[in-house]
Amino acid sequence: MNEEKDIKLTVYNTLSRTKEPFEPLRPPFVGMYVCGPTVYSDIHLGNCRTFISFDMIYRYLLHLGYKVRYVRNITDAGHLEGDRDEGDDKFAKRAGLEQLEPMEIVQKYTLGFHEVLSLFNTLPPGIEPTATGHITEQIEMIKKIIARGYAYEINGSVYFDVQKYGREHDYGQLTNRKPDELLEGTRELGGQDEKRGRLDFALWIKAKPETLMQWPSPWGWGFPGWHIECSAMSTKYLGVTFDIHGGGMDLQATHHTNEIAQSRACNGTAPAKYWMHTNMLTVNGVRMSKTAGNGFLPRELFSGNHPLLEQGYSPMTVRFFMAQSHYRSTLDFSNEALKAAGKGYAKLMESLSVLEKLSPSATSSVDIAGLEEKCHAAMNDDFNSPVLIARLFDGVRIINSVSDGKETLSASDLDMLRRLMHTFIFDVLGLRDESKSADGSGIIEGLMKLIINIRKSARENKDWNTSDRIRDELKAIGVEIKDAKEGAEWKI
Ligand code: AMP
Ligand code: ZN
Repeated sequence: MNEEKDIKLTVYNTLSRTKEPFEPLRPPFVGMYVCGPTVYSDIHLGNCRTFISFDMIYRYLLHLGYKVRYVRNITDAGHLEGDRDEGDDKFAKRAGLEQLEPMEIVQKYTLGFHEVLSLFNTLPPGIEPTATGHITEQIEMIKKIIARGYAYEINGSVYFDVQKYGREHDYGQLTNRKPDELLEGTRELGGQDEKRGRLDFALWIKAKPETLMQWPSPWGWGFPGWHIECSAMSTKYLGVTFDIHGGGMDLQATHHTNEIAQSRACNGTAPAKYWMHTNMLTVNGVRMSKTAGNGFLPRELFSGNHPLLEQGYSPMTVRFFMAQSHYRSTLDFSNEALKAAGKGYAKLMESLSVLEKLSPSATSSVDIAGLEEKCHAAMNDDFNSPVLIARLFDGVRIINSVSDGKETLSASDLDMLRRLMHTFIFDVLGLRDESKSADGSGIIEGLMKLIINIRKSARENKDWNTSDRIRDELKAIGVEIKDAKEGAEWKI
């Protein structure tokens, strides 16, 4: 591990509301838990923003030499429609709508989730545990919380006693809210409500006879509340205390606040040292969400098939668009911003081809070591990817100046520039060159060679119709062919 880089990394911790030096509990090991998707429907671009942001964080930690155990769960049970333990079970409802088994719904949308994230070139987590696969662990944790006096059972359901917990701990610590403020926005307990306090939340919910997914427990047949799964699975795979716990900002007030309370009540200690939250992707200022109906599905975005989209945008254009804003800033979707991101991404990729062709000189007229340091400084400042991109464009300017003969690079500096551009663009930002086959098979390159040769023969035969048609139809899907002296060149 590079000790020097290690010391410099700072991370914004939601708990302290400051940037703190990153000091893992058990270096070089880092435990990172990120709340994953609720797989009852397709994920939208907002969800993708959170997972892509944590992918970049994961990638940078790996780049610094940390051995990261990255756990991202799949919520496949226990998620009711209301945030206050009311409403229908999301999986059961969807299963009814699609006439499928709940586990068919889970399988369908888990596969879709993986497919989308792989199009965005995210690395898979080391462990991807599911709520239904960890019912025993959740029951054991609930038993412990009851034994310690922080939860109570009523009619086959178990609730967390927030009032009791709040007398000993700061329940609103994560969002910096006082007990009175926490009560705002919660409704009075109704006559039907079994909870003792308005902030109490379910750890275990008694099943109705018609509940599709239910398990036996010491309290009868039922299913776990939403929050307990993450406490049980993070403890199981990362230990009672671990380094980073992440998710979208919308999870702070309820899900993560309750996770902290559960873990403290059960284990006597707060689970994570650093809490990291990504900000929301918005559309015209409104948070993109499944319920607001403004969620573009990634496939709509790629095809352009949505009323708000003027054209399709490739996965790497979208990833570049996201990396251009810091993960803690809101990011508003617009066609203009995505078109600009497409140009920026293309410029970056083109500069890499120019970089390949550069020849070294005896001496350097530019400071490449300084540029590398600035790239690290950007990412060390709480993973500031927009500043990193600005530094990479300094690299692009250097590449173009050397290519134009205005600046020179020694052989070792040229090597360093090649290494740094590739490392930060591909390994850290997680971009891919879309003109190359993702699997390294060379299929895209081979197919383009074939098409260009067919067009060449057409032109030799003065078959301008075919030649123009190939050019125009490729253009319509975003591939540009340029005729040059040495033959045609193409770019996406
Ligand atoms: P869900 O499947 O709704 O549980 O959400 C999965 C993840 O996406 C969670 O970490 C959410 O906080 C995050 N998320 C949801 N909506 C957005 C959004 N508009 N922008 C960024 N992240 C989001
Ligand atoms: Zn969670």
